[in-house]
Amino acid sequence: MQNDVPAQPGFFPGVDVVTISLPAWTKGFTAFIGGFKTDEDRMRLAIALARENVLRGSGGPFGAAVFEEESGKLVSVGVNSVERLGNSAMHAEVMALMFAQAAAGSFTLRAPGLRPHVLVTSCEPCAMCLGAVLWSGVQRIAWGAPRGAAAAVGFDEGPVFPASYQYLEDRGIRIVRGLLAEEAQEVLRLYQERGGSIYNA
Ligand SMILES: [Zn+2]
Repeated sequence: MQNDVPAQPGFFPGVDVVTISLPAWTKGFTAFIGGFKTDEDRMRLAIALARENVLRGSGGPFGAAVFEEESGKLVSVGVNSVERLGNSAMHAEVMALMFAQAAAGSFTLRAPGLRPHVLVTSCEPCAMCLGAVLWSGVQRIAWGAPRGAAAAVGFDEGPVFPASYQYLEDRGIRIVRGLLAEEAQEVLRLYQERGGSIYNA
């Protein structure tokens, strides 16, 4: 079929590559990948990523990381990059899961031969991220600040219901709620104090 409208840069199909990248400063957080034995150790990293993202002005107040469950090895990190990358899907959790799957070379972290993985995130996941968790192959998720804390700052977390969690749990995904919640909420307040933008209110 003939289309008489020529492709233009900036419009699909002129744009056929989407690049997903971490801010350069995250390299300082991934230099040491061992020793994250406890959930608290892992959550402190996620919160530190969230805080640094705010202080550096590279995105929203959310950080996440994927670890090998038993060894505590850090597999990947993510920080909210919605505005930096101009992409509404670039939540910290989605980024961390994407990089973990890239590292594993698989669309699921439950692929044969892979060890169990856990996603640790500084804030309760939004509707999109909870869905991403379901398909990711992680066997456990731990979150810090509750969705109410994100909502208090102005972020809409979307349609997440008790049944949503039950759905995941019924499929063998264990959930740790409110881990180091106070420290995690502190980053949300910091973002608010600094006048950070709310991109999905
Ligand atoms: Zn999200």
